[in-house]
Amino acid sequence: MKDVIIIGGGPAGLHAARLLASAGLDVALLDAQAEIGERAICSGVIGVEAFSRFDLPTDPIQNTIRRVEAISPSGRKLLHSSTEPLAHVVNKGEFNRDLAAHAVSAGAQMWLGKVVESLEQQKHGVAVRFRCRESRRQGRLRARAAIIASGVNRSLTQSLGLVQPRDFLRAIQADIPLGKDGATRPTRIYVGQSVAPGAFGWKIPLGQGRVRLGLMASEEPRPYFEQLLKKVAPHLPLSECKVFQKVIGQLPAGKCAADRILVIGEAAGHVKTTTGGGIYYGLLSAEMAVEVLLRAFQQKSFTEQALSEFERYWRSTFGHEFGTGYFFRKLMARFPDSLLDKTFEKASSIDLLGRINGNLKFDWHYKAVVIAMQRLIAPSQQA
Ligand SMILES: Cc1cc2nc3c(=O)[nH]c(=O)nc-3n(C[C@H](O)[C@H](O)[C@H](O)COP(=O)(O)OP(=O)(O)OC[C@H]3O[C@@H](n4cnc5c(N)ncnc54)[C@H](O)[C@@H]3O)c2cc1C
Repeated sequence: MKDVIIIGGGPAGLHAARLLASAGLDVALLDAQAEIGERAICSGVIGVEAFSRFDLPTDPIQNTIRRVEAISPSGRKLLHSSTEPLAHVVNKGEFNRDLAAHAVSAGAQMWLGKVVESLEQQKHGVAVRFRCRESRRQGRLRARAAIIASGVNRSLTQSLGLVQPRDFLRAIQADIPLGKDGATRPTRIYVGQSVAPGAFGWKIPLGQGRVRLGLMASEEPRPYFEQLLKKVAPHLPLSECKVFQKVIGQLPAGKCAADRILVIGEAAGHVKTTTGGGIYYGLLSAEMAVEVLLRAFQQKSFTEQALSEFERYWRSTFGHEFGTGYFFRKLMARFPDSLLDKTFEKASSIDLLGRINGNLKFDWHYKAVVIAMQRLIAPSQQA
């Protein structure tokens, strides 16, 4: 009988494991992967603030972003630059492994290669039934409470009638050689119906002549990726790239708390609706869930009512970010390419980025989005 079982060894689950174990609880984290970070498909862009706020590992940092340039369908540019670092780019597999090492040194146990098939609420605890990936043997583990941090895999939350992401983006990316791209080149964001319908593409310099090229879209992204690759690296055929695809879930729908259970991270849809970035809010929701769970251990009360404190907590802290960001991205996604080009032109003419600069934080977009909508969409006298 453990104190807490965590299902999922991504950033959210690993951070929760570290915090709970540091507080002295007996924690077991189960993950389907044989090794943490095995299939961590992610661009690994994390705002600098997150590194100090969550005491994140810095060894996996591959590059630092100071300039971001958005490119319209016809090639108009909007550049946001800063003398201070905006974000770091990490190798996500290594990043997850370092988070796991922190959790293990705090006392958490890693149960790897265990596919959790069910989670059952019982009178005095919870019980998970898992299958070993290698031997296919079944096993059971009990604890007083559980955290589901299973990312976009919805099987457990669905079977328990808990929160699900309401919207999904299909992402694709590859690290490719691009000799001319130095580490100090701006990170580029490509927008447009013809480029990445429903979202955007990206080219992130990694240094040493390599870039991370990818895109998210509301439909099958591969044809758009092939098109972006032709534009960025015309001499590199798709067949020579190691391409990875994954779905990103966002926009929480449903409750994150039940008797003895909390849902955090991407499993709960705690992902930026503007960019699809899920690491920051995953870590933040882990921190909040741990605070609520530690109180539950003190008060020996694990009822849904007691754990619902987590729901109120995240909603009042970052809930407003999701709806506004989602509305903005969906609105932009409806713009035909010609209108998007005009929007870039208007943004340049009114120095939109200069106007929102003080309100634009890497992980907090609400204020900047509201100002951008007022300035871009409102009648021109307000511009
Ligand atoms: C191409 C791409 C680029 C991205 N780029 C960025 C970026 O630059 N910045 C950013 O912040 N975010 C980015 N994201 C999103 C980010 O990767 C995720 O939102 C984030 O990793 C979610 O963290 P998590 O801990 O909630 O879940 P995950 O990292 O998805 O971890 C979930 C874990 O649960 C395990 N699991 C699931 N089901 C079970 C089960 N039944 N039994 C046992 N284990 C299970 C999985 O094996 C996995 O290890 C990107 C995503 C993609 C696809």
